[in-house]
Amino acid sequence: MDDNNVKEKTNYPRRRPYRTPKKQEVKAENKVENKEIKEEKNEQIVEDVKSENVQVKPKAKTQTRRKPTTKKEKQKIKIIPLGGLNEIGKNITVIEYKDEIAIIDCGLKFPEEDMFGIDIVIPDISYLLKNKDKIKGIFLTHGHEDHIGALPYVLKQINVPVYGTKLTLGIVETKLKEHNLLSVVDLKRIQPRDIIKLDNMSVEFIKTNHSIADSVAIAVHTPLGVVLHTGDFKIDYTPIDGEVMDFARFAELGKKGVIAMLADSTNVERDGYTQSEKSVGEKLEMLFGKAKGRILVATFASNIHRIQQIVKAAEKYGRRVAVSGRSMENIVQVGIELGYLVVEKDTMIGIDDINKYTEDKIVVITTGSQGEPMSALARMAASEHKKINIVPGDMVIISATPIPGNEKLVSKIINQLVKKGANVIYGSAQGIHVSGHACKEELKLMQTLVRPKFFIPVHGEYRHLKQHGELATTVGLKPENLIIGDNGDIIEVTRDSIKKNGTVTSGQIFVDGLGVGDVGNIVLRDRKHLSQDGILTVVATIERESGMIIAGPDIISRGFVYVRESEILMDEAREIVRNVLRECEENKITDWATLKSSIRDSLRSFLYEKTKRKPMILPIIMEI
Ligand SMILES: [Zn+2]
Ligand SMILES: [Zn+2]
Repeated sequence: MDDNNVKEKTNYPRRRPYRTPKKQEVKAENKVENKEIKEEKNEQIVEDVKSENVQVKPKAKTQTRRKPTTKKEKQKIKIIPLGGLNEIGKNITVIEYKDEIAIIDCGLKFPEEDMFGIDIVIPDISYLLKNKDKIKGIFLTHGHEDHIGALPYVLKQINVPVYGTKLTLGIVETKLKEHNLLSVVDLKRIQPRDIIKLDNMSVEFIKTNHSIADSVAIAVHTPLGVVLHTGDFKIDYTPIDGEVMDFARFAELGKKGVIAMLADSTNVERDGYTQSEKSVGEKLEMLFGKAKGRILVATFASNIHRIQQIVKAAEKYGRRVAVSGRSMENIVQVGIELGYLVVEKDTMIGIDDINKYTEDKIVVITTGSQGEPMSALARMAASEHKKINIVPGDMVIISATPIPGNEKLVSKIINQLVKKGANVIYGSAQGIHVSGHACKEELKLMQTLVRPKFFIPVHGEYRHLKQHGELATTVGLKPENLIIGDNGDIIEVTRDSIKKNGTVTSGQIFVDGLGVGDVGNIVLRDRKHLSQDGILTVVATIERESGMIIAGPDIISRGFVYVRESEILMDEAREIVRNVLRECEENKITDWATLKSSIRDSLRSFLYEKTKRKPMILPIIMEI
C-alpha cells in the first residue's frame, strides 16, 4: 500500500477561505438559463477544484489556462456503464473525458440458478483493454462484492491505481492476497473530501451511509461540470460510527452545477425512509435480554456496523462472542485491526472454546444469512458443522432479508433449525434488519440536494431504473433529461444535451474454478442439458478394414436411468446401436461422423419414445 502518497495529501479544506464573489459568479448562480454565463460557471468549478485541490502530486508544469471556447467542436463527457444496469450486481462505470478514463467500482455478480457450476460472474472489460492507456485509476465507492469483487480479475489485465477508503481497501487487500496480487497493485487510501487530480478531470470522494462502513459517493469534476455517482447509499441520521452523510457537500456541488447524476435505484420501489441501523441494535439488545441459552446471529459478513451492534449487545449481557464462517472471520479481523470494530479485551473467543462457557454466556456470529448451502449456518442446520450442534433452547437470529432468489434456501434452513428445537427469529417484521439502500423519500432528497441537469438511474433491474427516473421527474427533473441506459451504452453528455450514441462491448464473463471466461454459453447449455436429462455414452470397437463390430456396443448412463433397474431398456438400446452399425457396414459407410450421427439419431428417437426423455448421447467409436 502506498501510504506515503496518502499522507502527503491533506484534506479538502472544510472551511473555504472567504473571497468576494465576482459579479458574474453571483449572476451565474442565480440565472442558470443563460448559457454563456453557465459555461463560465462550469469553468469556475474546475478553477475551484484546481485552487482547492490539495493533493501534492508533483506536476511538471502548471496547466495552460483554457481559452474561452470559441471552438465549434463540442466537448463531451462519455459515461459508459459496463455493468450494474438492468441487473443487481457487477457494478462498473466508465467516465471518459478527452483522453482520460476514471473507472467507478469493479464488482462481481453471483451466478443465477441456471448458471450451473459458475462461481462468480464478472463484467466484460474489452472496452477497457482497448483503451488501457487512457485509464487513470479505479475509484471505489465501498467494499461490497458487487463493487469490488471483480478487481483481482480486472487488475490482472489492467494494472492501474485503486483508490478507496480505509475499510474498502482493507477488504480489497485480503482479496488481492488470495490472488497473490497484493505486492503488484498500487492501492491509494483516500478520505472523504479528498480530491484526486487527473489531467483533465478531478475525482472527489463524499461521505455517505450504507450497510458497510466507509462508503463514499464519487464526484468527477470536468470542465463541463460535475458527474456525480452516488454509489450505494442510504440516509442515516444516527449511524453507528456517528459519521453522517456529507449533505453539505452534496448541496454545495448541486449549487455549483452537477451536469449528470448516476444514483442507486435498488430500493426505489419502497415508500418512505430506510430505518436507521441503530434501530436494529435496540431490537437485538431486547432479544439478547430475553435469551436463556446460546444466541447465534447470522448476518452479512461485510456489515461491520451490524457486527458491532451484536458485539455490543453481547457485552451488555456478559456474553462471549465467537465467529464462524471464513468471510465473517476475515471481516472481523480486518474490522478490529483497522479500528472499525471496537471490542472489549475478553469478548472474542475462538470457536473451539465455546464449550468452556455455559450456554447463556455465548454468542456466535455466523455467515449464511442468505441460506448459502456451504455457509456455516447451513452446515449447523444440517448437523454438518464440526463445532456447533443446534440444540433446543438456542436462539437463532437471522439478521438479514433474503435477496430475491434466495428465499427458498433461507426457508429450508429455518425449517431445519426449528426442527432441532431452536427459537428462530427472522423476517422483516422483527426489526432485526434494515436495508442499506435509500427508499423513495431519500432518493427525492438526493435529487433535491444535487439538482442534476441530467439523470441516469443505475444499480437496478429495468423496472427499478424506470421507476427511479419517474421519481426524479416528480421533483423537478425534465423528462427529456433522463436516460434509462443499458450496459455498454455510450451516454454522451455535452453542456446542453444528453444522448445515447452507440455501444461498446459489454456482457458477462463466467468464472469457474481457475478458469476465467473459458466457460461460455455453449458449455452452459451442455451443463443445463446434462442437469435435466443426464448422459448416455455408447462405446463400440470396430475393425477398420471390414467395419465389423469387435467389441460392444456398451452403454454407460449417468443421470438418465438407473442401469440395474433398466436392463431391458439398455438391452434394447444396445440392439439398436448394433443394427445401425450393421447397416453401415453393409452400406460401406466408414465415415465416423455419419456413423456417430446415425447412432445418435436412432437412439434418441428410441429413448424418447420409451421414456419421453432426451439424454445427451455421446457415441465413441474405436477402430483397430
Ligand atoms: Zn453496497
Ligand atoms: Zn451495490
